[in-house]
Amino acid sequence: MSQQPQPTTPFPAATILGYPRIGPRRELKRALESFWGGRSSAEDLTVTAAGLREGTRRRLQAAGLSEPAAIPADFAYYDQVWSAASQLGAIPSRFAHLRAGDSHTGALDLAGHFTVARGAGDLAPLEMTKWFDTNYHYLVPEVGPDTEFALVASDSADAVAEGIAAGVAQRPVVVGPLTFLLLAKAADDAPEGFAPLSRLDDLVAAYAAWLRSFAAAGAQWVQLDESALVSDTWDADRAEVLAAAEEAYATLAAIETTERPALFVSTSYDTLGRDALAALARTGVEAIGLDLVKGGLPEIDADLRAALAGTTLVAGLVDGHNVWRTDLDAAHAKLTALRSAAGDGVPVAVSTSTSLFHVPHTTTDEPDLPEQLRSWLSFADEKVGEVLALAAGPEAAASEFAAARAARDDREAAAGVHVPAVGERLANLTDADFDRTPYASRVVVQDQTWDLPALPTTTIGSFPQTTELRQARAKLRKGEITEAEYTDEMRAEIGRVIELQTQLGIDVLVHGEPERNDMVQYFAEHLDGFAVTQNGWVQSYGSRCTRPSILWGDVSRPAPITTEWSSYADSLTDAPVKGMLTGPVTILAWSFVRDDQPLAETANQVALALRDEIADLETAGIGIIQVDEPALRELLPLREAAQADYLDWSVRSFRLATAGAADATQIHTHLCYSEFGEVIGAIDGLDADVTSIEAARSKMEILPAIAGSGFGRGIGPGVYDIHSPRVPSAEEIEGLLTAALASVGERKLWVNPDCGLKTRGYAETVASLEHLVGATKAVRARL
Ligand code: GLN
Ligand code: ZN
Repeated sequence: MSQQPQPTTPFPAATILGYPRIGPRRELKRALESFWGGRSSAEDLTVTAAGLREGTRRRLQAAGLSEPAAIPADFAYYDQVWSAASQLGAIPSRFAHLRAGDSHTGALDLAGHFTVARGAGDLAPLEMTKWFDTNYHYLVPEVGPDTEFALVASDSADAVAEGIAAGVAQRPVVVGPLTFLLLAKAADDAPEGFAPLSRLDDLVAAYAAWLRSFAAAGAQWVQLDESALVSDTWDADRAEVLAAAEEAYATLAAIETTERPALFVSTSYDTLGRDALAALARTGVEAIGLDLVKGGLPEIDADLRAALAGTTLVAGLVDGHNVWRTDLDAAHAKLTALRSAAGDGVPVAVSTSTSLFHVPHTTTDEPDLPEQLRSWLSFADEKVGEVLALAAGPEAAASEFAAARAARDDREAAAGVHVPAVGERLANLTDADFDRTPYASRVVVQDQTWDLPALPTTTIGSFPQTTELRQARAKLRKGEITEAEYTDEMRAEIGRVIELQTQLGIDVLVHGEPERNDMVQYFAEHLDGFAVTQNGWVQSYGSRCTRPSILWGDVSRPAPITTEWSSYADSLTDAPVKGMLTGPVTILAWSFVRDDQPLAETANQVALALRDEIADLETAGIGIIQVDEPALRELLPLREAAQADYLDWSVRSFRLATAGAADATQIHTHLCYSEFGEVIGAIDGLDADVTSIEAARSKMEILPAIAGSGFGRGIGPGVYDIHSPRVPSAEEIEGLLTAALASVGERKLWVNPDCGLKTRGYAETVASLEHLVGATKAVRARL
């Protein structure tokens, strides 16, 4: 049984794991971009940031988070992982010259902080990748045998002091050491097989110094985010990870409680598991957080109860990753069950399941949402109220519980939530609706239909989104131009894009997607069952935000969505024009999805709408159709045991969307990542005729996996990295193509960029595509 002394300040009865950092009007975005653009000083940026932190403290106090340590201090200028890395000295050696001090081992200044995050010239930035199963991207720390972990900066401690000076005792929130190392990658100069986790002891020593600095600044509690512990998909096996976690936290908990804050280890995005909970319970940390929205209640037997004695369990009962109003009755029932399982010796506090930075600030900022829908929603500020109501309980918070009950009942019965026709169509599906004619037969028909050269060239869909296009959209929104004028502008752009591709000599053309603000929102705006917000921005990475749509009801398609644009493009050329759709999984992944039915069912509803769209495109004469699924891997469950089921329903939804296509119709798909090997079974299962996938950025590392898998259909490993303005030379592309050809063979190889071109400028796009076509011709000549 752990015998830790009771912390001086008990854990707050109600708290949240984190709050949006970007500001209610994206103030941080604007301040960052103005600083990057040289239009304001570092001083201006720090003043804006301090103002945002002060605003957050006041908002959360006003919302009722009044207990000491209830308000998190989780500010980061760019990303919380990079914020931890930069304070702990984990700064790649290629940026050492930017560090303070004669020996360049000190902190980065603000400009240097962003240089590492964003890169400069030949100095590649830290890699960016998705944070657990969310659409937030963190910067991947680079750790090698020589990385010197040492507390070199005091941002997190300063934020605590700032709060205390403002009269608010906050709880600093930092990424925990296990998660830090599991999310890190081996530095470029590390020896083969080096695992960042092997540096845990040294990192923990730096964390000890960090904790001391928090205590010195006056923090009573610190939150260490260890969401990595919910996953079992790391390279290291789980027993090893848990043993490492146990050792690390035992070391940190052994620091005198006068010299460190009480330790709250939070975990989000899935179930922590009895094994990890038991490991943490043995360490003497003072509080452990559980995601009870995504994960189930832990089994707590007598042994675990004894090990937990004196440790606070922090029950994540309010969904931090979605926007629905909490069913307070159901959440309270979970809380009661946890309390009785944990017993009297284990206090249980209430929290959100994740940080709230995945959701917008407040529903009161959405005057254009239908009032009824708004009453079903809960954004960050509303979730604070829910946490407080749950902590108070159904008697003290009777009116909140009653209101939540009324909203739940209203939502359940509301028109549009369950549409009988949609349900019937799903219920009547048979296996045949998910299958096309076998590839071997349909490819014969396709080869006869599409007279394509060897190594056909194409692009991923979008062409550069110019200022004029964005302005036209803004003008339409403000009513400054008519719908007809807008259509004319888009058609003119489509004309230019078709003309350009014709001149370049590309084989399969696209219309360029000028009419789309966003590849998901565009479809959300044209489907029933979705709503879009006005101010619902959430951070995606750095200063970039997205505004996810809200998928609230049964999905159906009131009218064709893309056919007019595609057939207009088709009318301008004799070359084939590829229709362009966003797949069901990606539409779900980048929206806030309903939580009242299985995702698989919602995915199939979206799939049926897309199936109808494909039929309409075929009728309009579009016989090559791409269905993008860049998010297929993003939703992959963090628990291995859940992955097969996910891959099954996600693949089925894609097949449902595409299986109505005629044999002659060539279905393409596009995936945005290079982890081909990880999801090869699923990619194969999609049964698309042609698959394009990122490869150039990752230097064609996927070729062996493609070759080894025996993947038998068309494949376009990207030969041009569109993530930077750099123009690849024709020789470079020819080299990549030669390698690809050797791996996958002439019959299967397509030539395309890594991804869509919408973020690029025209000059570099034209030059790069010229080289792409030139390189292809050179390689073809040698066949
Ligand atoms: N068709 C989309 C485009 O080209 C695909 C974007 C993506 O993969 N994220 O923009
Ligand atoms: Zn892509």
